[in-house]
Amino acid sequence: MLNVPSQSFPAPRSQQRVASGGRSKVPLKQGRSLMDWIRLTKSGKDLTGLKGRLIEVTEEELKKHNKKDDCWICIRGFVYNVSPYMEYHPGGEDELMRAAGSDGTELFDQVHRWVNYESMLKECLVGRMAIKPAVLKDYREEENKVLNGMLPKSQVTDTLAKEGPSYPSYDWFQTNSLVTIAIYTKQKDINLDSIIVDHQDDSFRAETIIKDFLYLIHIGLSHEVQEDFSVRVVESVGKIEIVLKKKENTSWDFLGHPLENHNSLIPRKDAEDTYMKNSYIRKNINQRRETFIFTFSPNVVGLYYRKCQLISKENVTHDTRLFCLMLPPSTHLQVPIGQHVYLKLPITGTEIVKPYTPVSGSLLSEFKEPVLPNNKYIYFLIKIYHTGLFTPELDRLQIGDFVSVSSPEGNFKISKFQELEDLFLLAAGTGFTPMVKILNYALTDIPSLRKVKLMFFNKTEDDIIWRSQLEKLAFKDKRLDVEFVLSAPVSEWNGKQGHISPALLSEFLKRNLDKSKVLVCICGPVPFTEQGVRLLQDLNFSKNEIHSFTA
Ligand code: FAD
Ligand code: NAD
Repeated sequence: MLNVPSQSFPAPRSQQRVASGGRSKVPLKQGRSLMDWIRLTKSGKDLTGLKGRLIEVTEEELKKHNKKDDCWICIRGFVYNVSPYMEYHPGGEDELMRAAGSDGTELFDQVHRWVNYESMLKECLVGRMAIKPAVLKDYREEENKVLNGMLPKSQVTDTLAKEGPSYPSYDWFQTNSLVTIAIYTKQKDINLDSIIVDHQDDSFRAETIIKDFLYLIHIGLSHEVQEDFSVRVVESVGKIEIVLKKKENTSWDFLGHPLENHNSLIPRKDAEDTYMKNSYIRKNINQRRETFIFTFSPNVVGLYYRKCQLISKENVTHDTRLFCLMLPPSTHLQVPIGQHVYLKLPITGTEIVKPYTPVSGSLLSEFKEPVLPNNKYIYFLIKIYHTGLFTPELDRLQIGDFVSVSSPEGNFKISKFQELEDLFLLAAGTGFTPMVKILNYALTDIPSLRKVKLMFFNKTEDDIIWRSQLEKLAFKDKRLDVEFVLSAPVSEWNGKQGHISPALLSEFLKRNLDKSKVLVCICGPVPFTEQGVRLLQDLNFSKNEIHSFTA
C-alpha cells in the first residue's frame, strides 16, 4: 500500500501547488489527496446517488444539477456527478463549479486535457447525454463513406481552414507490395518530429503538427499491412510520406474508411492562447464539440497513448533513475526538444498520468552524433519520491513491463535558437531534464553560439544528476561552463551555496557582448521557476529572452 503523508497537500514545495499557466491550486484538507480519492472510489460507496444505474441525460436535466451538493458536469458526452469529488479537486471547488450543470469539455481541455478523467471519475458516471437524432445521422453517413483518396471535408474543418494554416490534405498510391500515404502539409518547416504515426490491427493514425494545429488522418485500412513502416519527409515542399508494407500483394480498391475525427485540423493545447483569442475558430470548435458530444467520442481532442516496454533501468543518483522505454514497432514518434510526454499507469485500478521530459540516453555518447531518424527508444531521468503516488509504482516495474506514453506536448520553439549567441540554463533538481536535449542541440547545431552556461541547483552533491558527464562535456567543449549550487551542502563543499538569488544570477548571467542574442531557460520546482523569472525580469531580460518550463 502506498504511504501517503498526512500533512497538508499539495506539500508546500510541490509542483502540484500550481498547475499549467500559473493556475493556482488550493491546499486540500487532510485526507483529501489523490490516493484518498482512489480509496473512496474503491469503497463501494454509491457516488452518483443512482445506485449504479446509468441514465440518458437531457440538456434540461443537466442544467438542474448546478449546485455544490448536486453538481453534474458533461465531458465529451458523458455526464458525471462531481459533488463527491469537490473536496479532492486540486484546482478547488470553485473551478469545478464553473462547469456545473453544463458541458465542461472546453474548460477541461483548456486546463488539463491530459488528466484521465474517465478513469478518475468512473464511479461518478451518471450516464450519457441524450442523442440529438440529426447529428447522429450525419456521423453515420460519414462513417459509411469509403476513402478512395478523395477527401470528405466536413463543414467544420473547412471553416477552420480559413483561419488556421493553409489547409493540409492527403493522398495515397500503391505498388504491388507497398501503400504510400502522402500528407501535404503546405508548410516548409516540417521534419520527422512533426509526424506521429501509430497503427494497430487495421486502424491507422497519423498526427501531423502544423504550427499550432494538429492534422489528423485516422483510417480503418481496407487490407492488412505489416507492423513496420517507414516515414520520409520532403522538407522543401512540406510533404510527408508514410510507406506501409502490404501483407498480401493484392491491389487495393480503396484505402479504408474514416475513423473518429479523420481529416481534421485541431488546435493544439499548447496553442490554446492563440485559438481561444480567435472567436471565429472558437465558435466552430463549439460546433465541432457538439458532434463529439453526440457521437460519444471520448478522446477526440485528448492525448493519444501507446504502450511502451521497459527495456532498462539504471541508477543515476541515490533516488534518480534512467528509464529506457521502447516504442512499439508500429509507432513513429520523436519527442521534440523542450517537450514532455505523459506516462500513464494503473494504480490500484485507477489510471494515473504524470508528465515527464525525455532526455538523450547519455549526455556524452550521443553528443555530436546525429540523432537516429527512426529512434525507437525514449529515455527518461526520473526521481523516485518514496512517498509519492506515481514514481514508486514506476520504480516497481520489471524489465519487459509496459507503460503508456502520450504524444508530446509543450510550447518550446526551436526557432528560439536562431542566431543565438549566449545560452543560459538555470535548472533545479529534475528540472535539468529539458536542458539535456537543449545542451546537445545547442552545442551541435547552432553555429552562431558563443557560450552556454548551466547553473544547476541541487540540495546536496549526491543529488546532482550526471555531474561527471557534465564536467567532462565542459572540459571537451570550451563554450560550455557548468556551475553547481547546493542549498543543503555538507560542510566540505567549496562551491556555490544557497537558493536562486539576485547575487547569484547577476554574476552568472553576463552577456558576451552588450547586444548579443540571448536565451535563458529555467526549469525546476514551481517556486524556483517563478522566483527565477522575476529575478530575470529585474535584470532586464525581456520576455522573449526567457523560456520557463512548466506543465
Ligand atoms: P507526488 O504524489 O506528486 O508527490 C510529490 C511530493 O509530494 C512527494 O515529496 C510526496 O511525498 C509529497 N506528497 C504526496 N502526497 C502528499 C500528501 N498527501 N501530503 C503531503 N505531501 C505529499 N520529474 C522527473 O523526475 N523527471 C522528469 O523528466 C519530469 N518532467 C516533468 C515535466 C513537466 C512538464 C512537469 C510539470 C513535471 C515533470 N516532472 C518530472 C515531475 C513529475 O511529473 C511528477 O510530479 C513527479 O514524478 C512526482 O510524482 P509522484 O506521483 O511520484 O509524486
Ligand atoms: P529538489 O527538491 O531536490 O530541489 C532542487 C533545488 O531546487 C533546491 O536545491 C533549491 O535550490 C531549489 N528549490 C527547491 N525548492 C525551492 C523553493 N521553494 N524556492 C526556491 N528554490 C527552490 O527538486 P526536485 O525534487 O528534483 O524537483 C524538481 C521539480 O522540477 C519538480 O517540481 C518537477 O515537477 C519540476 N520539473 C518540471 C519540469 C517542467 O516543467 N518541464 C520538468 C522536470 C521537472
